[in-house]
Parts: sequence; structure tokens; C-alpha cells
Amino acid sequence: MSEPATRGEFSEALRQFALINRITIALSTAVGTEELAETLAAVVVSPLGLGFSRAILLAYDTQRECFLADRAVGISSVEQARQLAAQLEAERNYLDALWRDPAALEEDRLPELMHRLQAGSLCVEALERQGCGPLGVPGWSDICVIPPREDPADPFARLLAEPSVLCFDSADAVHALPEPLNSTLTAPFVAFCVKTNKGPRLAVLADRAFQPDRTISGKDRSLLEWFRSQLTLAWSSAELYADLERALERQRELDTLKDNFLATISHELRTPLTAILGFLDLVLAQSAGPLTKDQNELLDRSRRQAAHLLGLVNDLLVVAEHRAGSAHDLPLGQVDARTALRAALYRLRTDPKAEKIPIVEPKPAREPYLVLANESALERIFYHLLHNAVKFSPPGGEVKVRFDRVGENCYLAVEDRAIGIDRSQMREIFSHFYQVDSRLNRSYPGMGIGLTLAKILLEATGGHILVESQPGQGSVFTIVYPSWERAI
Ligand code: ADP
Repeated sequence: MSEPATRGEFSEALRQFALINRITIALSTAVGTEELAETLAAVVVSPLGLGFSRAILLAYDTQRECFLADRAVGISSVEQARQLAAQLEAERNYLDALWRDPAALEEDRLPELMHRLQAGSLCVEALERQGCGPLGVPGWSDICVIPPREDPADPFARLLAEPSVLCFDSADAVHALPEPLNSTLTAPFVAFCVKTNKGPRLAVLADRAFQPDRTISGKDRSLLEWFRSQLTLAWSSAELYADLERALERQRELDTLKDNFLATISHELRTPLTAILGFLDLVLAQSAGPLTKDQNELLDRSRRQAAHLLGLVNDLLVVAEHRAGSAHDLPLGQVDARTALRAALYRLRTDPKAEKIPIVEPKPAREPYLVLANESALERIFYHLLHNAVKFSPPGGEVKVRFDRVGENCYLAVEDRAIGIDRSQMREIFSHFYQVDSRLNRSYPGMGIGLTLAKILLEATGGHILVESQPGQGSVFTIVYPSWERAI
């Protein structure tokens, strides 16, 4: 059994706990290395933190391999130290009084105290408030310390070489510091270096000048050691976060470049393709002279391929423009789903696989199947769903199109008995250029934009899409639009 703790030991442990808690919150609320350096300085000099008088921060320049002036904070006179201690004491007494009797609260301080209490900011703000302003160190901004490699006893060379907190007790150590640090710091002083896996980042030097007791105890050292390791972690995370942000920004820039490139190239391809189609139409209409049956057949095939190509280019353009943020003006109106389906099936004729996989259409009905949509958009959506259903079907497969009406909605389903889609891929398949099998030598051709386009067009025309799928069994893609009756 260990010795029972005394009241004194208990209140000391409680103080230590509160201090560690304050510092942890302060570090965890700092975002980015700049804010972290600010918090670090406040923690070192605040009597509510580590209680040093001055903290000098030097940033490490990796390229020039030297330490440069970053910031210096603290107090510069005994009088200031006394004022700070008195201010802290008054505040502590006030909070103690409030703790015992909340009625002691002065009304006008209520909003400020309430604000500080919220979300633990009391700790951070208290630390910063009780920290001290910038130190006026003459010649400060010129500091550039190049640690001498050949002198391992040099304080800065040691800082780079040793991972722990160093404590310098003698006046000689102060003299060994370069100007103006040697005329600013007093013995004893502590120094440590924040190092991440990218190398040294920051040197911190601190002393207890102007305080009645300037000693640096073993307890101070172990607390500083803990602080250094927490700081290193926080600094590493901040750097990682900054790296990620930079990478994300770069990714966004590349994405924009790619989208712009796609939009430009699609525009450029569209003009000559439209011209080719126009000329082919003229020749097919025999405006340039009569055609033999074979010539007609060949030119008709060329026309269909050119029209297919133009369709692909137009699809790419919609996706690229959507990504670039330009909205598409797609007027809504009364659309017969059968007409749109028929047009999609006609476009599908260019796909040789469509000849091998039967497509079962909805049973003929006397009434048209009217939805509130945009006809050309619906045709394109049908085309892509049917194209996929056919493409991913094994030999002997079949595709069925079903139209249903439930309440005020119309459900236009394309059902296949193809390879199916794994649950984990359901969301991804609607991302542009995403293909479940993305190998270059994959079995199924395609640009990976069919479903993206369908989603863009549906969103632009007040519809949405549902997917059910079982790997190895097949899929059902269902377009949902309001029925025309609902719209009127
Ligand atoms: P593409 O078909 O050109 O690859 P899509 O955007 O149309 O691009 O489809 C994205 C991906 O979704 C396809 O590559 C495929 O992996 C999957 N997919 C789409 N429709 C089906 C389907 N009917 N059956 C199985 N997988 C499909």
C-alpha cells in the first residue's frame, strides 16, 4: 500500500492537472503553425501556463540551415512581473469568490465571463491574456543564428542534435549565445527545439528574469519535456493539415484545368463534326448527284457513326460545363416517355452489341405516357441507361424497360440481367469518369460519364434516379419524374 496522500499533495496534483488541461486545450484549439507559435509563446510566459518571464522563438530556415527571429514575448521589468502577479491574484480571488457565491458576480462582467467560459475558451483566453506583450529586443529582427557544426557544445548546435529540453544554469551559457540574445536572456534558461519528421522547425528559449524565484526545478523540466512532445505532435498535425490543404488546392486547380480543357476540346470537335454531318446529309439527299445502293448504305453508316460521335462530344460538353459551374437551360414541358425511349433506341442502333441483346419495351398502350421533363434530356438519359444495360449484359442477356405510375410520380425503369454492381460502388458510379473496372484493358469500353450525365440532366429537370443491383444478377436503374397530370 502506498502512503496516504496529504492535502497539500492533493492540491498540488490538482493544480498540475488543471495546468495540463489548460495547455492541452490551448494547443488543440490552435489552427495552423502560425497560431500554434502564438499559443506556444503564450503558454511559456503566462503565469497560468509554464510561468517563464520571457520566451524567444526562432524559426528554423531549412534551406539556409539557420535560425531566424520569429517572436519574443514576455515582461521587461520587476515592476511588470509584480503587476502581472497582482492581476492574476485578483482574478483568482474573484473567481474563487464566484465559486463560493455566484451572487458576487458584477453584472457588467457577466457577458465577458460567459463568453470566456463557453467551449473551454476560458483556458485559452486566460493563457493569452495573462501572457505578455512583445518584447522590445534591440536588433531583434536581424537575428540569424547559424549553428556551428564543428562545435557540438554550442547551445544551438546542441539544440539541433539533442531531442530533449536543455537547461543552461551558468552565465557562461548566456555569453555563448549570439547577440542580442546574450544581452537579453539571463541564467538559468531553458531551450528546446521543435522537430517534426520534416526536420527542425522552431527553437524556444525562456528564462525567469525579474521573478523572485528564477530557479528551474526538476518538475519544471519534466513539464517542459511533456509540453515539447505535445507541441511536436501538434506541429506535425498542423503541417500535415497544411500539406493536405495544399494538395487539395493543387488537385482543384488540376481539376479546373482538366474541365476547361474538356470544354474547349469538345467545342472544337463539335464544329467540324456538325459540318461533316451537314455535308453527309446533303450527299445522302442526293443533292450532289445520284448514289448507288452501296454508296448510300456506306454513307448512311458513316452518318450514323458521325452522329454518334457528335452525341459523345455533346455529352462531354455537358459534363465539362456542369463542372465549370455553368448551368444548362433545359425547359420543362409535356414529354411522352415513349417518344424519348424510341429516339434513344434509334441512337443505340450504332452499337453492334444492341443487335445481340433484345430490348423489351413497355406494352403498347393507347394513351401516351406523359411526364413533366425535357425531351432531349430524357432521350439522352434513356440512351445511356440502355447502352450500359446492353454493354454489361452477357450473351443471352435481356433488357426490359418498364413504365409505372405510383401516385403522382412516373417510374421509368431499365432492367438488365448483366454483371450487376457491388453495394460499395453504388455512389461512385455517378462520379464523372468513374468505372468499376478502370483498367486500360478492361472488358467494357466507355468514357465513364454516362451515369454522371444522367444525374446532371435529371437534377436539371426535376427528376432523380434510383438504383438496385445485385452483383452477378443484374441491375435496375429507375428514372423518376413527376407525371404530367401532377404538373397541371
Ligand atoms: P461507362 O459505362 O462509360 O463506363 P457510366 O458512367 O455509364 O460509364 O457507368 C459508370 C460505371 O457504372 C460503369 O463503368 C460500370 O462499372 C457501372 N455500371 C453502369 N451501368 C451498369 C449496368 N447496367 N450494369 C453493371 N454495371 C454498370
